[in-house]
Amino acid sequence: MAAKKNQNKKYIFVVGGVMSSVGKGVAAASIGKILQARGCRVANLKADMYVNVDAGTIRPAEHGEVFVGEDGIEADQDLGNYERFTDQLSTRENYITTGQVYQEVIRRERNLEYHGEDVEVYPDIPKEIIRRIEGCQKKNNSEITIIEYGGTVGEYQLFPFLEAARMMKSRNPADVFVVLVSYLPTPKLLGEQKSKPTQRAVNDLHSAGLNPDFVICRAERPATPDIKRTISNVCSLPVERIISAPDVYSIYDVPVNFEKEKLSDTLLGTMGLKPKTRNLKDWTALARKIKRMDKEVVIGVVGKYFNFKSVKDTYISVIESVNHAAWQLGRKPKILWLDSERYERDPKLVKELDKVHGIVVPGGFGGRGVEGIIRAIQYAREKKIPFFGLCYGMQLATIEFARHAAGLERANTTEIDAKTPHPVIDFMPEQRENVATKKYGGTMRLGAYPARLKPGTVAHGAYVSTYKLKPKASNLISERHRHRYEVNPKYIERLEKKGLVFSGISPDRRLMEIAELPRGKHPFFLGTQFHPEFKSRPLRPHPLFREFIKAALRSVRK
Ligand code: GLN
Repeated sequence: MAAKKNQNKKYIFVVGGVMSSVGKGVAAASIGKILQARGCRVANLKADMYVNVDAGTIRPAEHGEVFVGEDGIEADQDLGNYERFTDQLSTRENYITTGQVYQEVIRRERNLEYHGEDVEVYPDIPKEIIRRIEGCQKKNNSEITIIEYGGTVGEYQLFPFLEAARMMKSRNPADVFVVLVSYLPTPKLLGEQKSKPTQRAVNDLHSAGLNPDFVICRAERPATPDIKRTISNVCSLPVERIISAPDVYSIYDVPVNFEKEKLSDTLLGTMGLKPKTRNLKDWTALARKIKRMDKEVVIGVVGKYFNFKSVKDTYISVIESVNHAAWQLGRKPKILWLDSERYERDPKLVKELDKVHGIVVPGGFGGRGVEGIIRAIQYAREKKIPFFGLCYGMQLATIEFARHAAGLERANTTEIDAKTPHPVIDFMPEQRENVATKKYGGTMRLGAYPARLKPGTVAHGAYVSTYKLKPKASNLISERHRHRYEVNPKYIERLEKKGLVFSGISPDRRLMEIAELPRGKHPFFLGTQFHPEFKSRPLRPHPLFREFIKAALRSVRK
């Protein structure tokens, strides 16, 4: 009987209390990581409360990066945390929004699939949420499915989602668990941690018919024994289920800290599961190594208007990819955010690039700051500063090269200048219709596509050496995309004649996926039409980021 029960699939709901932005996503990813390290098959899923069908139409400067999954889902940035921590690939099953839920319920209603019944917010909306959570479990064949809810308890729009958790728990109390990630403020005047806001959050959960099974206490400092006791009383929980989660040096410390609190043991014990292994060694070693590094590599990220507070959320995968590569090469990364609009006002300012070891131009849209970025790319090309362009960064590098090395005056992308005499970057043919009819949502070229690498190039060398592949046979890669424009095939020959090398090309030879300058001409000048940043892992940096940082380190030594 007990053995059979243990085979049931387990669900852990991670919900926030008190306030947002305290690291709930990292906590959910870390729970996935520590359970995976004990030999469990896990899946992480994010449910966001907004009515948007996906994150593709949301401004990243306000809501963080749009993370692209293998199948092209444009999702919340937390899916990036999950991938970086558990190294499992995300697809649309790992991401739910209120918009998706309603869209499906309404579609079914229009198809008469409710057989004449009226369709209600309760219970039809929670039921659809449950169907999606169980769908994610099935797709991943996970023993433990970790569902992170965006927002905080007490919010109006979270209610159907909490109700879904309650319905699942009332059906299978031994298989469904709730982790409350809360915040303990320390008011300056008092100098001590306060648990009252957390108690209020617990009350909110109670009024949704749920009691937390675990409380993770985010705070500047470790939760005191007194506070742990108070919270354990309020929740009628053993004190070992109240977990201290103080601020850490890097997010990669979080799983290590959880294990100091014996969280995986307690979680598995509570769920009635037996651990199979304990395997967090490499991760723990990395978290320790990160803290010990002192020599820096300075990377300038050049782009439009960086002076907003969530810049780190907007470029999280790019930042982490730089981190992973720098750490592997034994350097502490320092990122400078360089606003390109200043180079438009005063072109001389671009000289500040002399003080960085390499520059990254990340993805983007629209015309703002673009001339300044092009100026920076020109400077990096001429002064031989390592340059790495990601998506828009690759397109702008192609424009820069076209204008200043291939003599194509006023070359541009039709995204900015529809009347340019040289549209070196232009719509992919299938995109014209989408834009003309305002079909913006989910219509870019999205997700993983293969590309063939040209032997002997910088890109080929990077992939082959990182993955220890046989040099000739193994030149097909797969990377994730999110763009509407591409290098215009009409200009390829002219650009190549002047020395630009297209070192990665789609298998049908239509799309240019990587552009670079040969090793002899530049220490590292490379751009990708795809987003390599989505596939970098802490213990397995992306080959191109690694080559870029290597080149940056060579420029440090100079
Ligand atoms: N705006 C460009 C395009 O749509 C680049 C997009 C990006 O950088 N993700 O093609």
